[in-house]
Amino acid sequence: MATLIDARADCDIPTRPAGIDAAARRGLRYTPEVKRATDPLYGRVKDFIPAMEWPLYAPLIHAINALKAERKAVILAHNYMTSEIFHCVGDFRGDSLQLAQEAARTDAEIIVQAGVHFMAETSKILAPEKTVLIPSLKAGCSLAASITGADVRLIKQRFPGVPIVTYVNTSADVKAESDICCTSSNALQVVESLPGDTVIMLPDEFLAKNVAAHTRKRIIAWHGRCEVHERFGLEEIAQLREGFPGAHILAHPECPPEVAAAADFVGSTAALAHYVAANKPGRVVLLTECSMSGNVAADNPDVEFIRPCNLCPHMKQITLENIYDALLHMQHEVLVDPDTIARAKGAITRMLALPRPTAPAAFKTGLALAEVEVI
Ligand code: SF4
Repeated sequence: MATLIDARADCDIPTRPAGIDAAARRGLRYTPEVKRATDPLYGRVKDFIPAMEWPLYAPLIHAINALKAERKAVILAHNYMTSEIFHCVGDFRGDSLQLAQEAARTDAEIIVQAGVHFMAETSKILAPEKTVLIPSLKAGCSLAASITGADVRLIKQRFPGVPIVTYVNTSADVKAESDICCTSSNALQVVESLPGDTVIMLPDEFLAKNVAAHTRKRIIAWHGRCEVHERFGLEEIAQLREGFPGAHILAHPECPPEVAAAADFVGSTAALAHYVAANKPGRVVLLTECSMSGNVAADNPDVEFIRPCNLCPHMKQITLENIYDALLHMQHEVLVDPDTIARAKGAITRMLALPRPTAPAAFKTGLALAEVEVI
């Protein structure tokens, strides 16, 4: 059985979204047929959803899965989705890049992005002929909002000829102004692949600083931050080590560099999940969005997960209710103009052309902090 422990005794993060009567308000009931069809799915989430609450979720899950088949649609579920979305309606699961690649590969005509807006745009860039829907227009991202295409044009004027690497957590306009994209899995590989001794990395200041600790290249960074990962600090790591002895502390590279240096392992969400599956630590803390612990725990029932109580408010805009509404009413379609698609696709394609590692890449821990110019 998967074990989840909240790191903070006063954690006030709701484990489920609101909307107790969401299914009933849409005329959906927990009938014997719904029970029969959804019981196998309940097995995936039984450690996270009490049996008495399942009848509230099952009608929506059943209706979403029926609508998917009817409309030839797939749902791309990011690692930060809640477990009833991730395990019960998601057709493809993973980090933002894995999901975009699935968008390009799938035969489905409609893609519902259970993630945030920049991810839906990336799916549209890689699969422009498909209809891409985002269930909530409020599902933004502090990193993506930190920079615009106009900002990148000004940066290019200030640093002519210096290659620009853009994190996938950006809008299509920003990708379109960039030389190449990167993810948290391949950021170092992308930086090392570029000519010259200087690289501009946009927009995540902390990812840039964590990469800078691993390379001799001069890194110029933008001042964007992920509002979830910037909250982690050294004091929290000390408290976790004291309160949960023996726990392996794994951090995402959007965390501040001093946190990355003090963690036991640093990598993308795919790398964190891979570390847990490969090493089976008795006890683990994932210093990333809180929902991911539950999703990785379902595949690692012998591991005790300490949840850091840190949810992304943007990811949590996506619910079973609005996924159902998106499929029923075909809302909200994500559109990107063809010229932007062509230019943004170039930046993504140049990244995808690099050799792929056999396992998700890890950052080293314990490194000295690097000097980085932040603009
Ligand atoms: S977790 Fe951070 S990077 Fe991811 S969507 Fe939320 S704010 Fe953006």
